[in-house]
Amino acid sequence: MEVTKDLRDTNIIVDTKKIHDNMAMIKEMVGEGTEVMAVVKANGYGHGAVGIAKPLLEAGAKYLAVATLSEALELKEANLDYPVFIMGHTPDRLLHHIVEKDIAQTVFSIKQVQLLSQLAKEAGKTATVHVKLDTGFHRLGCIPSDEYVEEVCQMFEEDNICVEGIFSHLALVNDEENEKQYKLLCDFIDAVEARGFKFKYKHIADSIATVDYPEYRMNMVRAGALIYGMKGFHKGSLPVEQAMTFKTRISQLHSIKKGEGVSYDYLWKAEKDSIVATLPFGYADGYPRNLRDKGYVVINGHKAPIVGVICMDQCIADVTDIPDAKEGSEAIIYGDGTDGSMTIDEASKLADTNKNDIIARIPARPIRLYI
Ligand SMILES: *Cc1c(COP(=O)(O)O)cnc(C)c1O
Repeated sequence: MEVTKDLRDTNIIVDTKKIHDNMAMIKEMVGEGTEVMAVVKANGYGHGAVGIAKPLLEAGAKYLAVATLSEALELKEANLDYPVFIMGHTPDRLLHHIVEKDIAQTVFSIKQVQLLSQLAKEAGKTATVHVKLDTGFHRLGCIPSDEYVEEVCQMFEEDNICVEGIFSHLALVNDEENEKQYKLLCDFIDAVEARGFKFKYKHIADSIATVDYPEYRMNMVRAGALIYGMKGFHKGSLPVEQAMTFKTRISQLHSIKKGEGVSYDYLWKAEKDSIVATLPFGYADGYPRNLRDKGYVVINGHKAPIVGVICMDQCIADVTDIPDAKEGSEAIIYGDGTDGSMTIDEASKLADTNKNDIIARIPARPIRLYI
């Protein structure tokens, strides 16, 4: 990080104190009896999973939750002791990594568990799994049935396996559907536990549910958006703060004449003699290409509208009315709203998507700086 930090002007600045404090706030809200999984899939929603792992664990996260094995291995590479949970499916041919690196894995069939059992036995280890129940989302897991109860009980009896948890995911359709999904999970748990098997962790709530539906927190929640300061909730509230700032610097200024166009197809044309600034970020840095004519950056405390087609690596802003805009001047792409900077919330609305999409799509190219 230190080596590469000066290699580019386009950077993601991550406030690790905010990440820590957001996490601590979630812990505090859910209280003593409930654990929090910090969801750091998609490279920590663009913040860099490895860079934020420590503050999250220090603030009390029980697990670092990811979607894929590749993400889990990246965290384990950084620190073998990090507790990592994979919420997605890991194909049979890759399950040996789970055992080798002591990663907790989502499962939904006895076949997977038997394979894990065999691999764990060979390695002299215990594989930790959480069972996924499909309560309506139809994404991962099996729907409740007597056969599935049977299968899950069988999982408990496999050697070298710790069935540590069971979980489902809310589709967040409406209160009635949420209640239906939650009840399906509870009934299933009751059926398995009536057979004498106990789940240590039970979870169904993501960020929104954690805040809006305290009754569904069970004894573990999976918070993603919240730890980055994204407020997607409606009923409850939690004063988490955006931890990410996205910045760049003007690479070149151009004086153009009234009527001249910029970028592909000259889709924007100057209405008067103007000064435009080239900025070294584009849609390959995760900036929504559909923000043409809607997006803006903030330079010296003033909004500079992005004009013309947003290119892969560069875009152009109109800085005619911005005092003292120079080559090298800092431009805030996403900020916390101070100085009028565009928040991630605003970007998501202008780009007609959600906040998680705006941050999770930011690829590795912008350099992450942790403060
Ligand atoms: C991504 C994800 C989460 C976290 O979602 P947020 O809305 O960001 O809190 C929780 N659970 C599962 C299964 C997920 O895939």
